[in-house]
Amino acid sequence: MDFSLNDEQKMMIDTIRRFIAEELKPLEDALENTGALPEADARRIHTQSKALGLYALNMPAELGGGGLSNIDRIICEEQFGHTTDMLIRRAFGNVYEPLLHCKGAQIDRWLKPAVAGARTCAITITESGAGSDAAGIKTHAKRNEQGQWVLKGSKHFISDGEWSDFFLVSAKTGDKEISMFMVDKGLAGFTVGKDQKMMGLRGTPHLELFFDNVVLEDVALLGEQGQGFKLAMGALNVVRLAQVGARAVGKATHVCEMMVEYASDRKQFGQRIGDFQMVQQQIADSVIEINAARWMVYQAAWMLDQGLDAREQIAMVKVHAAETLGRVVDRAVQIFGGMGFCKELPVERYYRDARIYRIFDGTSEIHRGVIAKSVMKKGAVLFDVNR
Ligand SMILES: Cc1cc2nc3c(=O)[nH]c(=O)nc-3n(C[C@H](O)[C@H](O)[C@H](O)COP(=O)(O)OP(=O)(O)OC[C@H]3O[C@@H](n4cnc5c(N)ncnc54)[C@H](O)[C@@H]3O)c2cc1C
Repeated sequence: MDFSLNDEQKMMIDTIRRFIAEELKPLEDALENTGALPEADARRIHTQSKALGLYALNMPAELGGGGLSNIDRIICEEQFGHTTDMLIRRAFGNVYEPLLHCKGAQIDRWLKPAVAGARTCAITITESGAGSDAAGIKTHAKRNEQGQWVLKGSKHFISDGEWSDFFLVSAKTGDKEISMFMVDKGLAGFTVGKDQKMMGLRGTPHLELFFDNVVLEDVALLGEQGQGFKLAMGALNVVRLAQVGARAVGKATHVCEMMVEYASDRKQFGQRIGDFQMVQQQIADSVIEINAARWMVYQAAWMLDQGLDAREQIAMVKVHAAETLGRVVDRAVQIFGGMGFCKELPVERYYRDARIYRIFDGTSEIHRGVIAKSVMKKGAVLFDVNR
């Protein structure tokens, strides 16, 4: 067992850290205050990140992506967690794995432009009546006499909807059958609703989408008919490891660094607050939990690289990393005292931003259910060292 990072991995970490510190951090306050990222900044950070080879790291090299292993990818995603959602999207891209099922004409139309960052894509599964129960969607697509698909329904909470050029949309194509379609913005009958204002993640729009008999060519069907649920769930598995698990570890690390710095500088009763045992306990607990979460993330990524089924490990990561982040930001607010609650410092923003990690990409309750069901079925295999 070798837990060390190689030179290339260390270099990747340094490059991303420097890029975030020099190019992204200076944009964070304005993004938070205005709730919007100017197009010129978005273009600039995208171009700079691409020049450093940091865009679409999860996509194969032959398509122009980073071609990274899962381990290398999550090492990078952990660093992305040091900045904010919208800047991650524009600088590094959120190119979703189901696109790799593109075939024939779909490759040039949707896959390659997404990997190049020429076209942005969002994933749209959730509806107002179907969240955790992703199979309970009402949006449906039916064949018309010309062999095209006619899409009807609506979605909500769609991250990055405003910046996206096309959408991966899950829709029922039969009573018990769900398929996935690539739907271009601007098609007749496709309208974008309001930006649903959120507690955190300022700057990232979360939109309602409406499909009123949108006619789709056959080429818009991604993968096989009826494979949509599998595609969506398969994609979200990797997404929740990388974009939730690893980023939560990165964000918790970032907040912990701020916490330690503050505890070293701030003096009360003539001494550093970091010398008080009750403050030290909060720091120690944070460091312990972050390290545990990190190794869980790395182990799950390693399993994916070995071709092993890591669904249960990723469910555990999702719960533990998200909840660790929540506890760490809560302690940070406490250690910063009134300044932790005050908008003059970013700690209160991290506190708000952290809350969604326990909800999106499957709530903690849903993942605990998955883990418990597996353990009850398979026995100790989930926590047996010989597995
Ligand atoms: C900021 C943000 C960004 C998002 N981005 C996207 C996106 O880009 N694309 C997309 O498709 N979706 C997106 N979502 C949707 C997100 O994935 C859902 O909100 C999430 O899956 C939960 O669904 P829900 O909100 O409908 O809650 P519900 O499913 O209604 O759950 C409500 C409560 O009931 C509990 N519950 C439900 N079922 C069970 C059960 N079986 N056992 C125990 N408890 C249960 C839940 O844990 C939760 O506590 C986003 C949401 C937000 C807030």
